[in-house]
Amino acid sequence: MVSARVSKIEPSKTVAIDTLAKQLKKEGKDIVNLSAGEPDFPTPDNVKEAAIKAIRENFTKYTAPSGIIELKEAIVNKFKKENNVGYSTENVIVSCGGKHSFYNIVMSLLQKGDEAIIPKPYWVSYSDMVKLSDAAPILCSTDENFRIEADLIKEKITKNTKLIVINSPNNPSGSVIEEKELRKIADIAVEKNIHVLSDEVYEHFIYSGKKHVSIASFNEDIKKMTITLNSLSKTYSMTGWRIGYCAAEKDLAKAVEKMQSQSTGNPTSIAQKAALEALNGPQDFLKERISEFEKRRSLMVKMLNGAGLKCDLPEGAFYCFPGIESTKLNSEQFCQKLLKEHLVAAVPGIAFGTEGHVRFSYAASMPDIKKGMERVKKLIESLS
Ligand code: GLU
Repeated sequence: MVSARVSKIEPSKTVAIDTLAKQLKKEGKDIVNLSAGEPDFPTPDNVKEAAIKAIRENFTKYTAPSGIIELKEAIVNKFKKENNVGYSTENVIVSCGGKHSFYNIVMSLLQKGDEAIIPKPYWVSYSDMVKLSDAAPILCSTDENFRIEADLIKEKITKNTKLIVINSPNNPSGSVIEEKELRKIADIAVEKNIHVLSDEVYEHFIYSGKKHVSIASFNEDIKKMTITLNSLSKTYSMTGWRIGYCAAEKDLAKAVEKMQSQSTGNPTSIAQKAALEALNGPQDFLKERISEFEKRRSLMVKMLNGAGLKCDLPEGAFYCFPGIESTKLNSEQFCQKLLKEHLVAAVPGIAFGTEGHVRFSYAASMPDIKKGMERVKKLIESLS
């Protein structure tokens, strides 16, 4: 008999589909996996070497539960340099992946009776993690391009609203919040005393000359109300290492540290050394990878539209989120048919709270994208 708390959530669909696709591949099936957002590039060599060195030097014991001080310093520098936000090491908590950071924040901040506003489409795990905290996820719509709008958030605010979750560039739509909207959200949050959880894990994956802006950089008032969340997973191709982090005002950071000290304890010591090297080491590989992602994005968008699925050019992240209404299938049916009959793994839009769409990841090689999209075309043709 499991608890009511766990009974009210669903297993993560991104994780379930990715696991199934990897298993089928292992069994010898010619699967094209465009499900999870996992860059196909390897972790950079200098990062791998730092981890090997850590093992050789027996850096294999417990660390402080919220992370080693050198890593926190590197994160503080990163926030200053890349995001123009001045945090100190007391604001920073290192966790076992961005997902873990999100979980610890909602568990530390929310309780029964609280409401967290989550714009749709949203990353699959936000609403279930809010449910685990016993608070209520309040879903809110976005504009016709899935851009988060301050006025749409404002409509959902009640006296119980404790948190607004924002994610730009967005998983799954790739939309980027306009700076003027971000400033409006900041003003609303400060005025109403509502926290903002800003998930910035795709900050570097932003195209066509756009630049990422961190909400916490606007002024001290919004910085105090913001929890900035990030991860090494996407930027440094370190999905399996499980290192994420957040920065928040000191009392909340302390609460998150307490949660962590009574649950997981420290993130893996070796992975922390790898993360330290990732943040402090050369960053030039990233430019090349991002320009590769831009090419992949163009190819996927072109082929999706060519197959008859309407898809605008996403501004960021590494997902396409085309509409599938023309197929008359719902997103679950579409993805099941695509996997069973055409061996392509993708994630149904309903997992992101948005029916009528499917998410394809282009964090895959060009040949895989091409093959996957040809198969999508075959599926569409078989339906007419
Ligand atoms: N965040 C990635 C995704 O959306 C990884 C899988 C997950 O944890 O959801 O595909």
